[in-house]
Amino acid sequence: MSNTANDKVDAIRTEFINSLPARSSKIQSIASKLLEQPWDQQRAKDLIYEVHNLRGFSGSHGLMKINEFAGKAEDIIEALRRKNTALTPEDRVSLQTALDSLNTRMSNVHEELKHNFAKYQDPIKVMSTSPLVMIVDDDHAFCETMAVQLESLGYRTKYIYDLEDLEQSIHTYDPKAIFMDIIFKNGETAGTKIISELREKEEIKCPVIYMSARDDINARLAAVRSGGSAFLNKSFGLSDLKNTLDVILPLQRNSSYKVLIIDDDKSMNAYCTAILESANIKVSCLESPGNVFEYIINFDPDVILLDMYMPNINGLEMACVIRQHQAFSSIPIVIMSGETDINKQFIMRSVGADDFILKPFKPHHLIDTVLNRIQRSRQTKKMIYTDGLTGLMLFPKIKDQILNLMDSCIRYSLDFSIALIDLDFFKQVNDKYGHLVGDQILREFADFLTTRVRRSDIVTRYGGEEFAVIFPYTSGENAILALNSIRDAFAKRVQHVSDFEFQVTFSAGVATIDQYQELEELLSAADQALYRAKESGRNTIDLAS
Ligand code: GH3
Ligand code: MG
Ligand code: MG
Repeated sequence: MSNTANDKVDAIRTEFINSLPARSSKIQSIASKLLEQPWDQQRAKDLIYEVHNLRGFSGSHGLMKINEFAGKAEDIIEALRRKNTALTPEDRVSLQTALDSLNTRMSNVHEELKHNFAKYQDPIKVMSTSPLVMIVDDDHAFCETMAVQLESLGYRTKYIYDLEDLEQSIHTYDPKAIFMDIIFKNGETAGTKIISELREKEEIKCPVIYMSARDDINARLAAVRSGGSAFLNKSFGLSDLKNTLDVILPLQRNSSYKVLIIDDDKSMNAYCTAILESANIKVSCLESPGNVFEYIINFDPDVILLDMYMPNINGLEMACVIRQHQAFSSIPIVIMSGETDINKQFIMRSVGADDFILKPFKPHHLIDTVLNRIQRSRQTKKMIYTDGLTGLMLFPKIKDQILNLMDSCIRYSLDFSIALIDLDFFKQVNDKYGHLVGDQILREFADFLTTRVRRSDIVTRYGGEEFAVIFPYTSGENAILALNSIRDAFAKRVQHVSDFEFQVTFSAGVATIDQYQELEELLSAADQALYRAKESGRNTIDLAS
């Protein structure tokens, strides 16, 4: 349970309560003009706008009396606006009475806080979706500083001072990465030693990043031999941390959900931001819709949250404008609205909004709605990126991510290898046993491969019976080591598909960024190595020279 999230919401509520006198006098000033001067539609709209915001916000903050009377006033003004004629004496009385009652409720907010205040039944909980990173170091102060830095990057942290606690803690917390010191009181290389042991026992599945004041070749060698993914000299800064993790945890982070809120009401923005941030969602707010396209391009949101009522352009129009843009057509749009009118909900859908959330809403409503939309759209995106037969990502579709990963590895002098894998004599499999059996073998091979490489390696379908595996921070020798054991195991495996029993082998070519620093060159070198592997009899792996 995060105190900070609730503290933030409390602070926003206090700010809202402090803003009530100003809101009240604004409402009164518009209302008195409306009552004293000839009927003016725009003025009526302005008044509805103020009262509507007040209604939504008071409801969100559990101030249900203000919410109720703002609702009554809004309905009356809305009816007058629809009528669009000079006010009758009855109209005046009903408007005046509604606004007076609302005003009284606003002045009595402190009474309401004391007696009727419906504080949330559901306090905001910090979701445990952000990845947990473990810091292992006997220097307590260092751990704490590092934890603060990592948390500022959106990771959860757990620190371990004593190597004896490491194995149990890895079990308990299942970290996504481990930052590991090398020197402990137990010895000059105690850090790498314990990691090697735990790796051998297959206790560690995540990447390990060593941090050490020692930067000599022996320390680095020990780090590499124990399967370290990166080596940071202990004078590293926040940006080194970020960059290392961005490389080490490719495609693994799911804490980077992003929501763009378009609403002119600052306090509503702050309220939604506090709620969404408590669920580890990144939020950006846009108060005026002028430069919305630029904003969407730069921020690249997973969901757009629109307020229905804005002074210059309403939520429906905004949704239409966004939907007209081909590039933004797949971003889910959620409209926040106090509108209960079923017809309007229908219109919202017809202009391309995917969902709406009724104001006032509780924190978990907002979080659930947004997360649901994100998951749905990620599923759709996943269908675009992945291959229907094997479920693997399609190499051409994730080429940009691979390029980024490769660039980072070059920048930080980390290893990076690519393997192209091709099943041997696969045409014969199809010819002998049929295409469906061939398909089954491709699926099984994809599975076999995926479960045998490290989690940080990326297995993709490259085409037909060819696969590409990306090995970030892995040398060519290590990639070949890994692939050879997979090749051995696969070749020995007897395939049982629809009454047939047979064996299948594969050949592979591996290339590394030591020699080829452009992706196209790397692929072409791997392809040539694969060709040589085939030439030399198949069921073998060749390294590009
Ligand atoms: P080599 O050892 O030289 O790679 O021989 P090969 O027979 O595997 O190579 P070739 O390129 O001649 O044939 C590839 C075969 O893979 C032919 C093609 O029908 C089959 N194939 C490609 N994609 C699929 C698929 O999605 N399903 C099935 N069942 N077969 C496929
Ligand atoms: Mg082929
Ligand atoms: Mg083949």
